[in-house]
Amino acid sequence: MKDAARPAFGTVLTDKMAVAEFRDGRWQAHELKPVAPLPLHPAAHVLHYGSECFEGFKAYRRPDGSAGVFRMDRHIERMRQSARQLVLPEPDAAQLADMVREVIRACREQVPESPGALYLRPLLIGTTPNIGAAATPSTSALLVVLASPVWDYFSGGAKALRIFVEDQKTRTASHLGVVKTGGNYAAALGPTLEARKEFAVDQVLFCPGGSVQETGAANFLLLREGHVLTRSLDSSFLHGVTRDSLLTMARDMGFRIEERPFDVAEMLEWVKSGEAALSGTAAVLAGVGTLVTRKGEHRVGSGEIGPVTQRLRAALVAVQTGQSPDTRGWIERV
Ligand SMILES: *Cc1c(COP(=O)(O)O)cnc(C)c1O
Repeated sequence: MKDAARPAFGTVLTDKMAVAEFRDGRWQAHELKPVAPLPLHPAAHVLHYGSECFEGFKAYRRPDGSAGVFRMDRHIERMRQSARQLVLPEPDAAQLADMVREVIRACREQVPESPGALYLRPLLIGTTPNIGAAATPSTSALLVVLASPVWDYFSGGAKALRIFVEDQKTRTASHLGVVKTGGNYAAALGPTLEARKEFAVDQVLFCPGGSVQETGAANFLLLREGHVLTRSLDSSFLHGVTRDSLLTMARDMGFRIEERPFDVAEMLEWVKSGEAALSGTAAVLAGVGTLVTRKGEHRVGSGEIGPVTQRLRAALVAVQTGQSPDTRGWIERV
């Protein structure tokens, strides 16, 4: 397929999904089904009280026709943690892994050539029909695994991002930053659209009270030769598997990894000569070219995607796609 003809990320689904129901206090056997609308009562808990969480990870096509799933165990653990924090029935790790494997097997022909991939999207929603349940957890739930063929995020040529530094508004309630839930995206959407309109940026970096956290859907890293600085894990932001993978690889490549809180002033000082990038499953590592504050614009390094960003991204993509050996047990072949 020509790049121009490739659909945008997430707009195409494969034709099969896996569905499991939580009812009568336990997870029922899951089923593989054609992708179709879900039966959902209009009083379902999720539609009124936002009891929802999801995951996103990739499986890459291997030369032998199998699909290599990247760090599925970490994503499943994170989904179980999200469910616990939202007081939703916790998915069974073994069952969810089986659901993912079954979807991949059913959709094997639809896995694009790497660096395209099959993007896997487990979704958990509270389904108890009761509009009086604002302060009561849902006792029934649906767990669904969708899959979407995605092509290289940067197939049109990577462009350095323009990012607005939001030092007032928050992305999420402080205890929910670590939860991958739709409500956090809803909270970030308004400020992101406003900043796009006012400052012509791609994304918003949330730095409430001046403390740098992350963007609406990606973690934030400062980089320079031999050195990475990123926020230490706390409940204010999503603990990205890509972030963890990049830090692990950079450490093995001899980089000094500094994980601690830092503020906007320190970030602006760093980018005079250093690099900045966003990390997440979709784009892996995306270089930042400009930081825009309410007071003005700051060029990041040369204004282009930096060499350290490119090198770390290439190293991780090589492991994900199987061009470099998987020495850490990150890939399961299905
Ligand atoms: C999913 C997500 C990320 C990236 O996590 P990965 O595991 O690296 O894909 C970062 N921030 C937010 C808010 C997210 O929802």
